[in-house]
This record gives sequence, structure tokens and C-alpha cells, in this order.
Amino acid sequence: MELVFDPTPPVIAATTNERGFPVRRLLCLGRNYADHAAEMGHAAQAEELPFFTKWAEAVTQQDEELPYPPETESWHFEVELVAAIGEPGAAIKEADALSHIWGYAVGVDMTRRDLQAKAKKAGTPWDWAKNGAATAPLGPIAPVSEVGHIDTGAIRLFQNDALRQDGELGQMIWSVGRTIAYISRFFPLERGDLIFTGTPAGVGPVARGDKIRAEIDGLPPLQFDIQR
Ligand code: MN
Repeated sequence: MELVFDPTPPVIAATTNERGFPVRRLLCLGRNYADHAAEMGHAAQAEELPFFTKWAEAVTQQDEELPYPPETESWHFEVELVAAIGEPGAAIKEADALSHIWGYAVGVDMTRRDLQAKAKKAGTPWDWAKNGAATAPLGPIAPVSEVGHIDTGAIRLFQNDALRQDGELGQMIWSVGRTIAYISRFFPLERGDLIFTGTPAGVGPVARGDKIRAEIDGLPPLQFDIQR
């Protein structure tokens, strides 16, 4: 299953697309699992989930080392199911939404938790906390033609072999289809967009030298290290 658009950098490994998957934008949901919303001190609710974006340069690939970023002392992992858009569309109907997905991958939304807490308190945007180069490690993208649509199964993250996050995709408050329908009301989706769908409970800080492994049933796992 080959994508037919120009592979402008960065190009991310995909399991059956030799040219890779050209990343355009990262579109991210927050608080999409009730247990994670609770650990962050928020009530679970089904309307108006937090939404934020990251630059394409946020993406790193399998086995890349992540430099520990400046201006934080609390850099957290958040394992997430990522849907990769292959078919553009605006105001997409929820019933048609999954047909816009080219594939799925395991991703991690790295977050400066201390800056996010400050932003929440001040009522200001989350960009300092969320965005930046090398803040979104991504595993190989598996095409829907190979793995089907991923909507149930375990989602886990291990830090130096210790299990930290142990969720179930079925816990997602907004399904991938509802997320695509909602985002595309505001922004037309384009080929190369990556949708990060939120994280289950168990988020925590990384340290220099940590080895992270993230897994979702049915997808290639993601591994990366935090630079010493
Ligand atoms: Mn997240």
C-alpha cells in the first residue's frame, strides 16, 4: 500500500511503504482516558477535550536517542495510539472517518509537566510544555491494509523494564473516528497528519539514560532512550 504524495521531510518508517510516511502535522488530544484525567486532577468528561499541536520535527523514530530538553525538571512520558492520515478531508462524518486513516503506530507524547502545571494555573496555552523538536517518538506505522483498525487491546509503557502505564484502548473517551470528525470541523485534515489520541494513567518523569519501551496490541513496539 503505497502513499502517492511527495515525501517531504521528516519521513517516518512505515512497515509496508518503502518511501516511508511523510509527516505533516501532529494533532493531539488530552484527557482522553478517565484514569489519566483523574491523576491530573480533572473530572472525566466527554465534551471539549484539550487539543494541542506539535511541529513535524517533534517526531523521532525507533531507537533514536532523545536529548533531555531545557527549561524543565519534570519531563514526562505519555504512551498514545497514533492514527496516520492518508486521505484528506474537511468536516468528515464520523461514519466515514476511519477511511481517512492510512495506518497506526505507537507514539509517546513527551511533556514538560512542570511547565504544563504552570500554564494550567495561569490559564495560558500549553505550547512550552508540549511542543519542540524530539518530543514525539514514534514507532513504525503499520498500514490499515495489514493490521486493520486498532480500537481495542492493551496499551503499555515500560521504563527500564518496569511497567508504568497499563491501559486499554477501549477506555478512550473519544474514539479515533469521533476525534477525526471533530478535528476536521476546525482544520481540514491532510495526508501526513498524525493524530495523537491521549494517554492512560501512570505517566511519570524520565531521567537521563532511561530506556523506554511502548507497546500497543497489534502494532510494532516503540523503543527509545533518553540521552545521558
Ligand atoms: Mn498526551
